[in-house]
Amino acid sequence: MSEDCVFCRIVKGELPSETVYEDDDVLAFRDINPQAPVHVLIIPKRHIPSLADVGPDDTELLGRMLQVAKTLAEKLDIAASGYRVVVNCGRDGGQVVFHLHVHLLGGQLLGRLA
Ligand code: 5GP
Ligand code: ZN
Repeated sequence: MSEDCVFCRIVKGELPSETVYEDDDVLAFRDINPQAPVHVLIIPKRHIPSLADVGPDDTELLGRMLQVAKTLAEKLDIAASGYRVVVNCGRDGGQVVFHLHVHLLGGQLLGRLA
């Protein structure tokens, strides 16, 4: 846990969030500034600053985060229309919060990035 990390504070319940999924290791909640009708952030409960900081021991955790994205897409009714998962990493990747997170975006046609 990191004292001044906003997502660690959400995990600890010190900051409110609209939780959409939780298990022992993973938490998912609505983005405070949604960029699409569905915009959910999927995070590990453990503080990992970014994708650049994951190691071989985190392979299962990363896989489970993507499984949660897929399951939430179904639950939030965007699986049939399609959706995007995004991991911003580092400055040029546009990462603002340095606690690893997967964005799940959908509910409208998303512009192409790549
Ligand atoms: P990044 O650019 O780091 O990939 O995205 C960080 C995301 O976290 C942004 O989409 C931003 O709106 C979201 N965010 C930042 N602070 C909070 C917060 O306190 N609560 C919630 N729910 N989302 C947040
Ligand atoms: Zn954190």
